[in-house]
Amino acid sequence: MTHVITSLCLRDNACSAVCPVECIKEGSPVEQWPNYYIDPSTCIDCGACIPECPYNAIFHESEVPSAFQANGGEILNRAGLTGHYEGVGHDGDMITLETTRTLAPGEVVDLTESIKLNQAFCR
Ligand code: SF4
Ligand code: SF4
Repeated sequence: MTHVITSLCLRDNACSAVCPVECIKEGSPVEQWPNYYIDPSTCIDCGACIPECPYNAIFHESEVPSAFQANGGEILNRAGLTGHYEGVGHDGDMITLETTRTLAPGEVVDLTESIKLNQAFCR
């Protein structure tokens, strides 16, 4: 088992600094790999990254929701989406994304595709 970064990730880079085994990778190119990703072969399941994420994007693999229900206003960041997002990251750097969509109140989203995406990016 491993931890997984889902498409709620907005690349603010808060999690990677606390990972004791440096297994959190920045997706690149950003249009194709818009999130950060956890290398499942290196993650030791310590859970230290979870509370660092301001967007609650990180889950244990067994708890990644197949029916995540939005409160409204959460931002989904997935390849193929076309929404523009600007924010400020953990380090104070500007973040600009072009692959987002804002979720509506009560909208239900399957986040489990991120399990394979973490595996694929880190292969
Ligand atoms: S659970 Fe621990 S080892 Fe795994 S990615 Fe998070 S901080 Fe790193
Ligand atoms: S802290 Fe959350 S939003 Fe920031 S890079 Fe990590 S998973 Fe993505």
